[in-house]
Amino acid sequence: MRLATAEINLAALAHNLAQVKGFAPNSKVMAVLKANAYGHGLVTIAQHLNNADAFAVARIDEGLALRAGGLTKPIVLLEGFFNKADLPILLANNFQTIIHDEYQLAALEKAKLDAPITCWLKVNTGMHRLGIAPEQFEAFYSRLQKTPNAKNTVNLMTHFSCADDIDNAKTVQQITLFDNLVNGIDQAHCLSNSAGIIAWPSGHGDWVRPGLMLYGVSPMANSIGQQHKLKPVMRLTTRVIAVRDVPANEAVGYGGRWKSDKPTKLAVVAMGYGDGYPRHAKEGTPVIIGKQRYGIVGSVAMDMISVDIGANEHNIKVGDRVTMWGPDLPVEEIALCAGTIPYELLCNITPRVSYEYQ
Ligand code: PLP
Repeated sequence: MRLATAEINLAALAHNLAQVKGFAPNSKVMAVLKANAYGHGLVTIAQHLNNADAFAVARIDEGLALRAGGLTKPIVLLEGFFNKADLPILLANNFQTIIHDEYQLAALEKAKLDAPITCWLKVNTGMHRLGIAPEQFEAFYSRLQKTPNAKNTVNLMTHFSCADDIDNAKTVQQITLFDNLVNGIDQAHCLSNSAGIIAWPSGHGDWVRPGLMLYGVSPMANSIGQQHKLKPVMRLTTRVIAVRDVPANEAVGYGGRWKSDKPTKLAVVAMGYGDGYPRHAKEGTPVIIGKQRYGIVGSVAMDMISVDIGANEHNIKVGDRVTMWGPDLPVEEIALCAGTIPYELLCNITPRVSYEYQ
């Protein structure tokens, strides 16, 4: 019997892509599949996003894995390339690239390529991570356009830093700055991540870049996917591997960090940080066994977690399925219990977890 399993609901994935199109009906969709499609399985997820117009990944290897999996849609590299030696790989695999820095432009200008590469010029409008400064835009853009190695099409991109916070004026400032810079340039404009798609229609542009919302998870602070009509794609499950009685005041687990003040029963479940479950999930972080929620106790170990099911619970037995997160137990809630964000929980799933696509 398989223990730790990520059950992936492909109908929910299709629903979420349709939701993206509902939010941004006039934009093309670049589905963001980096980090193993946010832990959902790169190639299979890509195979089930037929209605996406392109894929985006961070690194070259992720793009190569998509091509090896037989995917033929345009692929955009969100980090771009690192040096001149990467460029023939981009060309051979029909990858499009972000250009975010002078070193990339210089490499592109010097390279001898058989054909041009489609580029997306990334402008820093306030994130201060990747992207050229607005003051450099004109000079940079014109150099790129003159480079025979860049296709005549040099598209334009920026990235939001605070779009998950609807009260933060930063996003409007970023949109305004970007619009002013690229105003009148008749090339594709691409601004919005999931939060931009949901909350900032003026930033939709010609293309949108949804990641998290495709997987049914909310990018907005203090909300869950269902509140934005999204359907969680992943249910992370495992099984009960032992049920044991513990007397009052016995220290449980590594470090003996938890004691029950009364006799109780623990279900030991086969899931731990070796599967990607967060080690810092606090006491009481919920799991579902049967139809009921119970709280975890003691330290999350590499392979196991103890769940306090109460002295009077007689129905839970070895082999019972346990949901660690899923449609009825939002990963957003588990992330809060672990002091992190759902992105991290999804990406952290390890190769020990098996995948079941449904
Ligand atoms: N665009 C870029 C440049 C990104 O780095 C990311 C992810 O971090 C996305 C789009 C997708 O973001 P989200 O998952 O919040 O939709």
